[in-house]
Amino acid sequence: MRTVTLIQGDGIGPEIIDSVKEIFKAAKVPIQWEEENAGQTTYEASGELIPQSLVDSINANKVALKGPITTPVKGGFRSINVQLRQMFDLYQNLRPCKSTPGVNSRFDNVDLVLFRENTEGLYSGLEIYDARLEMADSIARITKEGSVRIIKAAFEYARRNGRKKVTLVHKANILKHIGKIFLDAGMEVAEDYPGIAVDDKIIDNMCMQLVIKPEQFDVVVTTNLFGDILSDLGAGLVGGLGLVSGANIGDEIAIFEAVHGSAPDIAGKNMANPTAIIRSALLLLNYLELNDYHDAINTALQATLANKDECTADLGGSAGTSEFTQNIIKKLK
Ligand code: NAD
Repeated sequence: MRTVTLIQGDGIGPEIIDSVKEIFKAAKVPIQWEEENAGQTTYEASGELIPQSLVDSINANKVALKGPITTPVKGGFRSINVQLRQMFDLYQNLRPCKSTPGVNSRFDNVDLVLFRENTEGLYSGLEIYDARLEMADSIARITKEGSVRIIKAAFEYARRNGRKKVTLVHKANILKHIGKIFLDAGMEVAEDYPGIAVDDKIIDNMCMQLVIKPEQFDVVVTTNLFGDILSDLGAGLVGGLGLVSGANIGDEIAIFEAVHGSAPDIAGKNMANPTAIIRSALLLLNYLELNDYHDAINTALQATLANKDECTADLGGSAGTSEFTQNIIKKLK
């Protein structure tokens, strides 16, 4: 039995996390949850946004599932999600974007996996503000080491999952130095994976290609800011943020999360679609190599999503969060 840290989060977090707990229980997944929390609810109760007990739990268990978190707007707090990524050096942001049969979206043939570098680039936090001149600089620091480790993660994923091609996305025509470091690192890493094709795309062309012919992409790897934008674009291609999974992965620790927010407008109303967090939990099962449990739950989820009537309102159905969850459980073999 593996212990996994569970962070309910805020807003719809408790409802969608409950859905995962019920499905995992019904599927007899050999995982026990260690419940901790972070975010607004925790702050109101204890004065801490990220309690030490949560940090200790993640350090001990190495794996966590996290619901969406509200970072209080007032008080100048840094994003909790960013803090967690930095605290545990979770340099890989993994976002699979795959079309789901039965779910309305612009395309029905998308199956790409995006790797976003999570710690460098324009999000390094290196900013200089000169109030007198009303001028600011944000430094997009890229290192060879940082580039190699994220690109290697993308190629490793491709190798493990029988993927055929890795696309490096950059802006080396304008951002000469950082672009070159990233591209050179990519070509160097690619030499170790002769069975996997490599190509590259400039970010602006990449955006156009994605909305015209997304089926040409397989595994995509890019720097922090481009990855942030592309990952939401990718979600949009397959039906939106309510459907896609996400993970932040380091060499030892991984946090799996729904990428949508805490949806305060529908919190507590049994309206939230738990698909994104269920799919993130499925990524977690792959990560822990519990692949049979992954496949059983995934099959039941796909069958439910294929029938609009069994889905939540955002997918055109009339089921509440709990009914949708039960519809999945009924299909578990
Ligand atoms: P949001 O994703 O919470 O909501 C945007 C819209 O999508 C809302 O109409 C909401 O009802 C809907 N929606 C989102 N998830 C849904 C789901 N699972 N099922 C059905 N509908 C869903 O974005 P926002 O309103 O910009 O942010 C709200 C809060 O969430 C903010 O405090 C923000 O900081 C936080 N946030 C957290 C994360 C995270 O923890 N990963 C990510 C984004 C935003």
